[in-house]
Amino acid sequence: MDTISKKQRSGVMRLVKSKETKLEKEFRKELSAVGLRYRKNVSSLPGKPDIVFGKKKLAIFLDSCFWHGCRKHCRLPSSNKKYWVNKIESNIKRGRAVSKSLKGAGWTVIRIWEHGLKENISKSRMLVLSKLK
Ligand SMILES: [Zn+2]
Repeated sequence: MDTISKKQRSGVMRLVKSKETKLEKEFRKELSAVGLRYRKNVSSLPGKPDIVFGKKKLAIFLDSCFWHGCRKHCRLPSSNKKYWVNKIESNIKRGRAVSKSLKGAGWTVIRIWEHGLKENISKSRMLVLSKLK
């Protein structure tokens, strides 16, 4: 049973989401800075990849430590734990299914953890560059 109130939930989501978006923006800036052109939030592809290089068939997902259940950083809210566990488990499953279907269609998929971006944004950029060669 989903017992968390709508207000509580949107509060948590807003908190997590805005943080993620700031980091995403920073990463996109890094890519633009080296002259890369990409599309973002491409809803015509499975899973709506965050960054897409269409010609190279490269799809990039920036996975939030919270929403994708990072083992190091995902701290579930102490109330309604069951709700969050289910939510995050289904995100993980969906993520896997999305990667699989994209790969099946000939796409290269990169998933970058939020903490990877935080720790070393240029390393993540290099990873993207290496896949574009
Ligand atoms: Zn993490």
